[in-house]
Amino acid sequence: MKYNYHTHTSRCFHARGADEEYVLAAIEAGFDEIGFADHTPWKFDTQFVSNMRMHENQLKDYCDSIKSLREKYKDKISIKLGLECEYFSKYLPWLRSVINEHEIDYIILGHHFATDEPDGIYNGSLTTADGIYRYRDDVVEAMETGLFSYVAHPDLFMRGYDKFDGHCQKVSEDIINTAIKTNTPLEFNLLGIKHGITDGKPGYPDPEFWKIASQLKPKALVGIDAHDPKDYLESDHIKLGYDTLSSLGLTPVESIRFFR
Ligand SMILES: [Zn+2]
Ligand SMILES: [Zn+2]
Repeated sequence: MKYNYHTHTSRCFHARGADEEYVLAAIEAGFDEIGFADHTPWKFDTQFVSNMRMHENQLKDYCDSIKSLREKYKDKISIKLGLECEYFSKYLPWLRSVINEHEIDYIILGHHFATDEPDGIYNGSLTTADGIYRYRDDVVEAMETGLFSYVAHPDLFMRGYDKFDGHCQKVSEDIINTAIKTNTPLEFNLLGIKHGITDGKPGYPDPEFWKIASQLKPKALVGIDAHDPKDYLESDHIKLGYDTLSSLGLTPVESIRFFR
Protein backbone atom coordinates (compact mmCIF):
# COMPACT_ATOMS: atom_id res chain seq x y z
CA MET A 1 0.00 0.00 0.00
CA LYS A 2 1.31 3.42 -0.93
CA TYR A 3 0.77 5.74 2.03
CA ASN A 4 1.95 8.87 3.79
CA TYR A 5 0.72 9.78 7.26
CA HIS A 6 2.54 13.09 7.60
CA THR A 7 0.62 15.89 5.87
CA HIS A 8 0.20 19.46 7.12
CA THR A 9 -2.29 22.18 6.25
CA SER A 10 -2.01 25.94 5.91
CA ARG A 11 -3.42 26.35 9.43
CA CYS A 12 0.10 25.92 10.84
CA PHE A 13 1.29 29.19 9.22
CA HIS A 14 4.23 27.54 7.45
CA ALA A 15 2.43 25.22 5.00
CA ARG A 16 0.58 26.25 1.87
CA GLY A 17 -2.35 25.12 -0.24
CA ALA A 18 -5.94 24.09 0.42
CA ASP A 19 -6.63 20.82 2.22
CA GLU A 20 -8.27 19.46 -0.91
CA GLU A 21 -5.18 20.19 -3.02
CA TYR A 22 -3.17 17.77 -0.87
CA VAL A 23 -5.77 15.08 -1.47
CA LEU A 24 -5.84 15.71 -5.22
CA ALA A 25 -2.04 15.63 -5.43
CA ALA A 26 -1.94 12.37 -3.45
CA ILE A 27 -4.53 10.80 -5.77
CA GLU A 28 -2.55 12.00 -8.80
CA ALA A 29 0.60 10.45 -7.35
CA GLY A 30 -1.21 7.14 -6.84
CA PHE A 31 -1.40 7.00 -3.04
CA ASP A 32 -3.81 4.49 -1.51
CA GLU A 33 -3.98 6.08 1.93
CA ILE A 34 -2.89 9.40 3.39
CA GLY A 35 -3.13 10.94 6.81
CA PHE A 36 -3.29 14.57 7.81
CA ALA A 37 -1.19 15.16 10.90
CA ASP A 38 -1.08 18.91 11.20
CA HIS A 39 0.73 20.51 14.14
CA THR A 40 -1.66 20.14 17.05
CA PRO A 41 -2.82 23.16 18.97
CA TRP A 42 -2.10 23.13 22.70
CA LYS A 43 -4.11 24.57 25.51
CA PHE A 44 -1.14 26.40 26.98
CA ASP A 45 -1.47 27.35 30.62
CA THR A 46 -0.08 30.80 29.81
CA GLN A 47 -1.20 33.46 27.34
CA PHE A 48 1.41 32.16 24.88
CA VAL A 49 0.27 32.07 21.24
CA SER A 50 2.28 29.85 18.91
CA ASN A 51 3.11 30.96 15.39
CA MET A 52 3.74 27.43 14.06
CA ARG A 53 0.47 25.63 14.78
CA MET A 54 -3.25 26.15 14.44
CA HIS A 55 -4.98 27.90 17.28
CA GLU A 56 -7.24 25.87 19.51
CA ASN A 57 -10.35 27.42 18.00
CA GLN A 58 -9.34 26.12 14.53
CA LEU A 59 -9.27 22.49 15.59
CA LYS A 60 -12.91 21.82 14.81
CA ASP A 61 -12.60 23.35 11.34
CA TYR A 62 -9.51 21.20 10.69
CA CYS A 63 -11.26 18.00 11.76
CA ASP A 64 -14.46 18.83 9.88
CA SER A 65 -12.52 19.61 6.72
CA ILE A 66 -10.54 16.35 6.75
CA LYS A 67 -13.65 14.31 7.57
CA SER A 68 -15.57 15.85 4.69
CA LEU A 69 -12.68 15.20 2.28
CA ARG A 70 -12.55 11.63 3.54
CA GLU A 71 -16.19 11.24 2.58
CA LYS A 72 -15.93 13.11 -0.72
CA TYR A 73 -12.97 11.06 -2.01
CA LYS A 74 -13.72 7.72 -0.33
CA ASP A 75 -13.85 5.90 -3.66
CA LYS A 76 -10.43 7.20 -4.70
CA ILE A 77 -8.31 7.29 -1.57
CA SER A 78 -8.43 6.47 2.12
CA ILE A 79 -7.93 9.50 4.38
CA LYS A 80 -7.06 9.42 8.07
CA LEU A 81 -7.37 12.24 10.57
CA GLY A 82 -4.32 12.74 12.76
CA LEU A 83 -2.24 15.28 14.64
CA GLU A 84 1.49 15.79 15.05
CA CYS A 85 2.13 16.36 18.73
CA GLU A 86 5.04 17.14 20.99
CA TYR A 87 5.37 15.23 24.24
CA PHE A 88 4.20 17.75 26.81
CA SER A 89 3.26 15.46 29.68
CA LYS A 90 1.33 18.12 31.57
CA TYR A 91 -1.05 18.56 28.65
CA LEU A 92 -1.66 14.85 28.04
CA PRO A 93 -5.11 14.77 29.71
CA TRP A 94 -6.19 17.62 27.44
CA LEU A 95 -4.76 15.83 24.38
CA ARG A 96 -6.58 12.61 25.25
CA SER A 97 -9.87 14.50 25.49
CA VAL A 98 -9.24 16.08 22.07
CA ILE A 99 -8.57 12.64 20.56
CA ASN A 100 -11.91 11.39 21.86
CA GLU A 101 -13.99 14.47 21.20
CA HIS A 102 -12.79 14.97 17.61
CA GLU A 103 -12.48 11.26 16.71
CA ILE A 104 -8.80 11.60 15.85
CA ASP A 105 -7.56 8.40 14.14
CA TYR A 106 -3.91 8.64 15.24
CA ILE A 107 -1.23 10.96 16.54
CA ILE A 108 2.46 11.04 15.70
CA LEU A 109 5.23 12.33 17.92
CA GLY A 110 7.02 15.36 16.48
CA HIS A 111 8.95 16.54 19.50
CA HIS A 112 9.93 20.03 18.39
CA PHE A 113 10.22 21.73 21.76
CA ALA A 114 11.58 20.81 25.15
CA THR A 115 9.35 20.94 28.21
CA ASP A 116 6.88 23.45 26.81
CA GLU A 117 6.89 25.56 23.64
CA PRO A 118 6.85 28.91 25.49
CA ASP A 119 10.22 27.92 27.02
CA GLY A 120 11.47 28.21 23.47
CA ILE A 121 14.02 25.40 23.28
CA TYR A 122 13.79 24.04 19.73
CA ASN A 123 15.02 20.47 19.66
CA GLY A 124 16.52 21.07 16.23
CA SER A 125 18.95 23.61 17.69
CA LEU A 126 20.41 21.63 20.58
CA THR A 127 24.17 21.95 20.96
CA THR A 128 24.85 20.31 24.33
CA ALA A 129 24.90 16.74 25.62
CA ASP A 130 22.42 17.70 28.38
CA GLY A 131 20.04 18.98 25.72
CA ILE A 132 20.06 15.83 23.64
CA TYR A 133 19.68 13.58 26.70
CA ARG A 134 16.59 15.55 27.69
CA TYR A 135 15.28 15.09 24.14
CA ARG A 136 15.92 11.34 24.50
CA ASP A 137 14.13 11.19 27.85
CA ASP A 138 11.06 12.93 26.40
CA VAL A 139 10.94 10.75 23.29
CA VAL A 140 11.41 7.55 25.31
CA GLU A 141 8.68 8.56 27.77
CA ALA A 142 6.36 9.46 24.89
CA MET A 143 6.79 6.06 23.23
CA GLU A 144 6.12 4.34 26.53
CA THR A 145 2.66 5.95 26.76
CA GLY A 146 1.63 3.87 23.72
CA LEU A 147 -0.30 6.87 22.40
CA PHE A 148 1.87 7.66 19.41
CA SER A 149 1.52 5.68 16.20
CA TYR A 150 5.07 6.55 15.23
CA VAL A 151 7.92 8.96 15.89
CA ALA A 152 8.43 11.65 13.25
CA HIS A 153 12.05 12.64 12.65
CA PRO A 154 13.40 10.81 15.73
CA ASP A 155 16.85 12.18 14.85
CA LEU A 156 15.75 15.86 14.97
CA PHE A 157 18.33 16.38 17.73
CA MET A 158 21.08 16.16 15.09
CA ARG A 159 19.85 19.24 13.23
CA GLY A 160 21.68 21.61 15.56
CA TYR A 161 24.25 19.33 17.19
CA ASP A 162 27.71 19.64 15.72
CA LYS A 163 29.19 16.17 15.36
CA PHE A 164 27.87 12.68 15.95
CA ASP A 165 29.75 11.80 19.15
CA GLY A 166 29.42 9.20 21.91
CA HIS A 167 26.46 11.07 23.41
CA CYS A 168 24.63 10.93 20.08
CA GLN A 169 25.42 7.24 19.84
CA LYS A 170 23.85 6.64 23.28
CA VAL A 171 20.80 8.82 22.56
CA SER A 172 20.24 7.06 19.23
CA GLU A 173 20.56 3.57 20.74
CA ASP A 174 18.16 4.42 23.57
CA ILE A 175 15.54 5.84 21.20
CA ILE A 176 15.84 2.93 18.77
CA ASN A 177 15.77 0.28 21.50
CA THR A 178 12.67 1.85 23.05
CA ALA A 179 11.04 1.95 19.62
CA ILE A 180 11.66 -1.79 19.33
CA LYS A 181 10.42 -2.49 22.86
CA THR A 182 7.24 -0.43 22.40
CA ASN A 183 6.68 -1.53 18.79
CA THR A 184 6.77 2.09 17.60
CA PRO A 185 7.94 2.75 14.02
CA LEU A 186 10.55 5.45 13.40
CA GLU A 187 10.15 7.84 10.50
CA PHE A 188 12.70 8.53 7.79
CA ASN A 189 11.70 12.16 7.22
CA LEU A 190 11.86 13.50 3.69
CA LEU A 191 11.51 17.17 4.65
CA GLY A 192 14.68 16.84 6.71
CA ILE A 193 16.66 16.03 3.57
CA LYS A 194 15.62 19.43 2.18
CA HIS A 195 16.51 21.17 5.44
CA GLY A 196 19.91 19.47 5.26
CA ILE A 197 20.57 21.05 1.88
CA THR A 198 19.58 24.52 3.17
CA ASP A 199 21.44 24.09 6.46
CA GLY A 200 24.61 22.81 4.76
CA LYS A 201 24.82 19.80 7.10
CA PRO A 202 22.94 16.50 7.09
CA GLY A 203 20.93 17.23 10.25
CA TYR A 204 18.15 14.70 9.90
CA PRO A 205 17.80 12.01 8.64
CA ASP A 206 21.23 11.58 10.21
CA PRO A 207 23.36 8.92 8.48
CA GLU A 208 24.89 7.71 11.77
CA PHE A 209 21.49 7.41 13.47
CA TRP A 210 20.20 5.31 10.59
CA LYS A 211 23.36 3.21 10.51
CA ILE A 212 22.55 2.18 14.09
CA ALA A 213 18.95 1.58 13.04
CA SER A 214 20.12 -0.68 10.25
CA GLN A 215 21.89 -2.83 12.87
CA LEU A 216 19.14 -2.82 15.53
CA LYS A 217 16.22 -3.09 13.06
CA PRO A 218 13.36 -1.06 14.53
CA LYS A 219 10.12 -0.74 12.56
CA ALA A 220 10.42 2.15 10.15
CA LEU A 221 8.55 4.13 7.54
CA VAL A 222 8.98 7.05 5.19
CA GLY A 223 7.20 10.33 5.96
CA ILE A 224 6.88 13.07 3.37
CA ASP A 225 6.09 15.71 6.02
CA ALA A 226 4.19 17.54 3.29
CA HIS A 227 3.87 21.29 3.79
CA ASP A 228 2.89 21.86 0.15
CA PRO A 229 0.59 19.75 -2.05
CA LYS A 230 3.44 19.57 -4.59
CA ASP A 231 5.47 17.52 -2.10
CA TYR A 232 3.24 14.59 -3.05
CA LEU A 233 4.34 14.87 -6.67
CA GLU A 234 8.10 14.77 -6.05
CA SER A 235 8.42 11.15 -7.05
CA ASP A 236 12.24 11.16 -7.25
CA HIS A 237 12.56 12.61 -3.76
CA ILE A 238 10.08 10.09 -2.37
CA LYS A 239 11.88 7.25 -4.14
CA LEU A 240 15.16 8.40 -2.59
CA GLY A 241 13.63 7.89 0.85
CA TYR A 242 12.42 4.38 0.06
CA ASP A 243 15.70 3.43 -1.63
CA THR A 244 17.70 4.66 1.36
CA LEU A 245 15.57 2.70 3.83
CA SER A 246 15.89 -0.39 1.71
CA SER A 247 19.68 0.03 1.41
CA LEU A 248 19.72 0.03 5.23
CA GLY A 249 17.91 -3.29 5.26
CA LEU A 250 14.75 -1.72 6.70
CA THR A 251 11.35 -2.59 5.25
CA PRO A 252 8.64 0.06 5.72
CA VAL A 253 5.71 -1.06 7.88
CA GLU A 254 2.52 -2.08 6.07
CA SER A 255 0.49 0.56 7.90
CA ILE A 256 0.36 2.20 11.32
CA ARG A 257 -1.96 1.67 14.28
CA PHE A 258 -5.10 3.72 14.65
CA PHE A 259 -7.28 4.52 17.67
CA ARG A 260 -10.44 3.54 15.83
ZN1 LIG B 1 5.70 21.92 10.09
ZN1 LIG C 1 5.53 17.54 10.44
